[in-house]
Amino acid sequence: MGANDTKTATVLILGGTAEARTLAERLAAEPGLRPLLSLAGATTRPAGGAAEARAGGFGGAEGLRRYLLEQSIAALIDATHPFAARMSRNAAEASRAAGVPLLRLKRPAWTPQPGDRWRMTRTAEEAAALPPAGARVFLAIGPNSAAPFASRPDLWAAIRRIEPTEALFPLAQGQWVVGRPPFPEADERRLFEELGVGWLVSKNSGGDRAKLNAARALGMEVVMIERPAPMAGLPCVETVDEAVEWALAAIRG
Ligand code: NAP
Repeated sequence: MGANDTKTATVLILGGTAEARTLAERLAAEPGLRPLLSLAGATTRPAGGAAEARAGGFGGAEGLRRYLLEQSIAALIDATHPFAARMSRNAAEASRAAGVPLLRLKRPAWTPQPGDRWRMTRTAEEAAALPPAGARVFLAIGPNSAAPFASRPDLWAAIRRIEPTEALFPLAQGQWVVGRPPFPEADERRLFEELGVGWLVSKNSGGDRAKLNAARALGMEVVMIERPAPMAGLPCVETVDEAVEWALAAIRG
């Protein structure tokens, strides 16, 4: 794209993370660039922010390919959650098909610190097999990933979700815990103590370590579900700063 065309260069950011929102706000301050933040529409009140946004699926990779072309998207940044594997696959396929450059922004994974008691697993099914009979567990993996714990009616489980729900609690014993991030460490610690949980099950999302620090302070066991394998051959950065640089190069270069 030439220097005169940059005024309307739209960068589509696939969001659902705090980094995506920060990136959209940062790019909005850049002359010649229009960031558009895309959200899945899973929550009714996404975390605040001033960036321009759209919501809802595109209709698979083909739908996204069409959207990229129809909306004359100059560059695409996949800043979805590290576990949003389907959207990332679709983004890779659509960007190839439409000839639109794609960057993956993925915050660094957590690594254990001294005193952490972690067990690594690859899936929620494996995670469900680990706590001993009768354990009390806190599931910070999203309600959609909690289903495998139905195979453990001996466990008591708290499942954290962002939105309140009328839905029946899906496991034999336990309760919903409704809360919207960020979760300060002191609050996490108080919550775990009140619930009497000895185990925390988490995806290795990266970012704020508050719940992990709280678990360590309480001597809790942590089951850490590892990230899906990264997609080969795609440029990938870990910070918003790097993503801003990439976007500027992509539209000006
Ligand atoms: P997913 O399985 O990878 O995606 C499912 C479908 O949701 C996609 O095929 C797409 O529908 C739509 N979608 C996902 N992200 C979208 C976006 N940013 N803009 C427009 N459509 C989007 O994703 P998921 O694991 O269900 O996560 C859904 C959203 O929540 C993601 O945006 C993700 O960043 C966020 N999130 C996920 C997790 C997690 O643990 N998975 C945790 C925190 C936040 P179409 O095929 O119709 O385009």
